[in-house]
Amino acid sequence: MRYASLLIPTLKETPKEAEIVSHQLMMRAGMIRRVAAGIYEYLPLGLRVLRNVETILREELNRAGCQEVLLPMVIPAELWQESGRWEFYGKELLRLKDRHDREYCLGPTHEEVMTDLVRREVNSYRQLPLNLYQIQTKFRDEIRPRFGLMRGREFLMKDGYSFDVDEAGLDKSYDAMYEAYSRIFRRCGLDFRAVEADTGAIGGKSSHEFMVLAESGEDAVFSCTHAECRYGANAEKAESRMAWSAGTPVSAPMETVDTPNVGTIEDVAKFLSRPAADFIKTLVYDTDQGPLVVLIRGDQTVNEAKVAARLGLNRLEMASDRLVEEVTGAPVGFAGPVGLKNVRIVADHSVSSIADAVTGANEKDKHLVHVVAGRDFPIERTDDFRLVQVGEACPRCEQGTLRQDRGVEVGHIFKLGLKYSEKLQCNFLDRDGQLQPMVMGTYGIGVGRTAAASIEQNHDDKGIIWSVNLAPFPVQLVPLGTGDALAKAVEIEKELAALGIECLVDDREERPGVKFNDADLIGIPLRVTIGEKGLKEGITELKLRRSGEMEKIPVADTARVVRERIEALRAESA
Ligand code: ATP
Ligand code: MG
Repeated sequence: MRYASLLIPTLKETPKEAEIVSHQLMMRAGMIRRVAAGIYEYLPLGLRVLRNVETILREELNRAGCQEVLLPMVIPAELWQESGRWEFYGKELLRLKDRHDREYCLGPTHEEVMTDLVRREVNSYRQLPLNLYQIQTKFRDEIRPRFGLMRGREFLMKDGYSFDVDEAGLDKSYDAMYEAYSRIFRRCGLDFRAVEADTGAIGGKSSHEFMVLAESGEDAVFSCTHAECRYGANAEKAESRMAWSAGTPVSAPMETVDTPNVGTIEDVAKFLSRPAADFIKTLVYDTDQGPLVVLIRGDQTVNEAKVAARLGLNRLEMASDRLVEEVTGAPVGFAGPVGLKNVRIVADHSVSSIADAVTGANEKDKHLVHVVAGRDFPIERTDDFRLVQVGEACPRCEQGTLRQDRGVEVGHIFKLGLKYSEKLQCNFLDRDGQLQPMVMGTYGIGVGRTAAASIEQNHDDKGIIWSVNLAPFPVQLVPLGTGDALAKAVEIEKELAALGIECLVDDREERPGVKFNDADLIGIPLRVTIGEKGLKEGITELKLRRSGEMEKIPVADTARVVRERIEALRAESA
C-alpha cells in the first residue's frame, strides 16, 4: 500500500492527555484518535494491528475447537434481570430505553446472552461440549477510562464461553483455553505470565489472568523467585507461607489507658512506645450479610478480596462513620474487638502472633493494653485475610520467595461452574434422560489492550517496535526520491506481493529524515531503503527496527531476503 494515499496522521508532539507510552505512541503514529472519554476511532494502521490480533485469536481458537458467533451488543434487560446482574453490576452497565420504554443495556460481557442462546438451541448431552466465542465491541462505563485502548469504555473484546456436561469436561475445556491463550500471547510476541486470580464470592473453582509484565501495568503480580517454581498470582489472590509464632500470652489483665487526641495506630504506637506489630487493627465493614469486623495485626494490610471470597460475601465496603459508631459505640479511630455485641468478628492469622496486644477501647481517647485474643474477646473464624508482601516465602515451593511486578491483564479465564446455567436454567438431558445444568467456563481477551500492552513492552525513544505478527505491515519500503528509487520500490513491492507479503511503500515527496522518523515511529519490523546512490551500486539497505542492524542487499535479492527475515521473525514467536 502507498503511504501517500493512506490516512496516517502522525504527530510530532506527544498529546498532553496521553499518560502512558502505548497511548502516546498510538496517537503519534496516527493509529487512533479520541472521540470522547474512553471512546476511540481506529485509523487504518491501528485497525490493521487490531485485525492482526483478531486473526491470531481466530486461528488459535478455531484450532482449539471453538466456534465463532456474533451476538447482539444491545441486550434486553430481562436477561440480566434473570441472572440478577441487572441489580448487581452497578454503574459500569450502560442502560437505555427504546421508543416503547423497554429497557436494555449495552453488553459489557455476554454470559447471559450466550447462555440464553445455548439453553434454547442445545438440549442433549450429545450436543456437548460446546465452546462459542465472538469478537465484538463491548461497552463498560468505566469510572476512570484512561491510557488509550488500555482502559476504554467502548472496546473490542474476544469473549468465549464453554458448556460441558460435568466438572471433568469443564476442566478439559479450561485447560484447552489455557493452552490456546498461551499460544495466542506467544504469537503476539508478548512476555506474559498466567497467574492465579481470585474467583470472588460465588465464583467458580479457578481462574487465571494472563498478565503482560510492564511498568505501567495497573495490577500487581506476585510470583516465585525460584526458577523452577511456576507459582504466580495477582495481589488479591496471592498467598505466602508465614509462620506466625504465638508467644506465651501475657498473664496481666486487660487495662484501659488514656490516649488523648491520638487515633491512628501510628500515633498511638508512638504515644505508648509500642511497635505497630503489637496492635490489633480493627476494621469495620458493611456487607450484604450485615456489619463485619475484621482484625489484623497493626503492621499488616487486609486483603478485601480474600475476605469477600472466604466469607462468601457479594458486597464488602468500609463502613461509614455512622455504622462504625453504631457497631462500636465510639467515634472512628477507637474501635477494638473487646465487648462488641451482635457483630461477626473474624481475624487474620497474624493476630494470633500478638502475645500482649494493644487495641481500641471502643471509647473516645482510650485504648486497651494487655489484650489477649480468645481470652478477652471471641473470634468466630481465623483465616488468611492478608495482602502478601515482597520477600515472603513462596506458598508452593521450599526455596523461593515472592517478588512483585506490575502487569497488564490482557486475558482472563474463569471456571464459572453452574452460576449462570442454574440462574437461567440452561439444562440438558444426560445419558440417563435426567435434566442437568450445563457446567460453564468464561474466557476473555481484550483486543485493543493486547495491542497496547505490546507497545508498553516494545518501544524505544523513537517509537513503536512491533512484533512481526502484530505489525500493520511486516515491511516498509522507503524510496529516497520519486524517480528511479520509487520505480524500484514498486517493483520490489510487486515481487513481495507475489510472495504473499504486503508492504507499506513510503511514496511521499518528503525528505529522507522525515520518512525515517515516521518509519521508526510507526515501528514496522523491517525497513528497506532504496536510494538512487545505492541503486547505482546495485544495493538496497535493510534495517531491523528492533536491533537497528543494517545490511546491504543486492537489489535483485531484496524480496527474497526480506521474506527470509520475516520468516525468521515469525519462527521466533510461533
Ligand atoms: P480490569 O480488571 O482491567 O477492569 P476485568 O477483570 O474487568 O479487567 P474481564 O471482565 O475479565 O476484565 O474482561 C476480559 C478482558 O477484556 C480483560 O482481560 C481485558 O483484556 C479486557 N478489558 C476489560 N476491560 C477493559 C477496558 N475497559 N478496556 C479495554 N479492555 C478491557
Ligand atoms: Mg473491569
